[in-house]
Amino acid sequence: MEYKKYIKIVEDWPKEGVQFKDITPLMDNGAAFKSAVDEIVDFAKEKAIDIIVGPEARGFIIGCPVSYALEIGFAPVRKEGKLPREVIKVDYGLEYGKNVLTLHKDAIKPGQRVLITDDLLATGGTIEATIKLVEELGGIVVGCAFLIELTYLDGRSKLDGYDVLTLMRY
Ligand code: 5GP
Repeated sequence: MEYKKYIKIVEDWPKEGVQFKDITPLMDNGAAFKSAVDEIVDFAKEKAIDIIVGPEARGFIIGCPVSYALEIGFAPVRKEGKLPREVIKVDYGLEYGKNVLTLHKDAIKPGQRVLITDDLLATGGTIEATIKLVEELGGIVVGCAFLIELTYLDGRSKLDGYDVLTLMRY
């Protein structure tokens, strides 16, 4: 499917110089959203995945329907102070700004095969931080899936050796 017609480009948001890719029109369209999720499900099916991990907030939007389709669990990665029980933490730099991501300490069991999902790969900081959290708990990252890749920011260079699926490239 041609997904790009469902992505709205918003100039200078959330700050000047950023061309934000808004995925909400794709989410608005049931057929396009289902098709995108189905492509990620197909990618995941071959990998015998035990659990999906996604960073807030759009990683949930992509990851949860995939976990539902595969009948496996989903573990949320959240900003500091949002998860209620004992967490592990990692610092990361975003395309715009800095942050801390956390994951519940018991979210992943050692040896579990993990698919990480997010809406968009930009500099790769968020996915790199998420991978660190999963691997610190002994999880095996067997794939990373995104709707969109901003190739000019070269996030892929942080994902050497990982199997990466992206449905659209800019
Ligand atoms: P990175 O850490 O790879 O630099 O940035 C990716 C993260 O920032 C993702 O979690 C994504 O949700 C968010 N992000 C950065 N730029 C955009 C954008 O243009 N559109 C959307 N939808 N998310 C973005």
